[in-house]
Amino acid sequence: MPDLNPGRNVVPMVYQGGCLCGAIRYQAMAEPVRITICHCTFCQRLTGSAYLVEPIFRRPDVIFRGAPPSRYEHRSDSSQMRVTISFCGHCGTTVCLELERFPDIIGLCGGTFDNPNWFERDKDNCRHIFIRSAQRGVALPAGVKLYKEHAVKLDGTPNEPMVLAHTITLKRGGYPDITPPTLLSRAGEVIE
Ligand SMILES: [Zn+2]
Ligand SMILES: [Zn+2]
Repeated sequence: MPDLNPGRNVVPMVYQGGCLCGAIRYQAMAEPVRITICHCTFCQRLTGSAYLVEPIFRRPDVIFRGAPPSRYEHRSDSSQMRVTISFCGHCGTTVCLELERFPDIIGLCGGTFDNPNWFERDKDNCRHIFIRSAQRGVALPAGVKLYKEHAVKLDGTPNEPMVLAHTITLKRGGYPDITPPTLLSRAGEVIE
């Protein structure tokens, strides 16, 4: 692989993915800035599944080729801002999300990578959001930041996550009523 950034003495990574039929292909030229696992009802409907695994990239770090994707624009229920999803007009696979609220980043649909396991998802780079609508049977991991809704408020201030000491499985779905010792911290405070 050629070194595209000789000044940085770093060989860029190229991780590829695309839609089911192969008409849309993309490559990521850097690690994701973070991984969002979103349990909101929009992402549940979008994926037809329990949640979206969404590695978030700086926009210049993702290059698309092949067929131009079809696009669908949706108004966010909470912010009233635009959410645009891009999907293959032939096979229907959704490949990415773009948010008017965060114009510098792009979220890829993690399951569309040829190797969806290449990026880390640990406590330092991963967070779960919209736990309030998480489906029954979903497991919430210990040690990872879990947010009831968005991680950041509409005015830009951060919401405080909850962190679990033990992984739990949601028996009924929705925001769980968790108490110590399973609950490690809530709203930024460590619970003894
Ligand atoms: Zn396709
Ligand atoms: Zn979502």
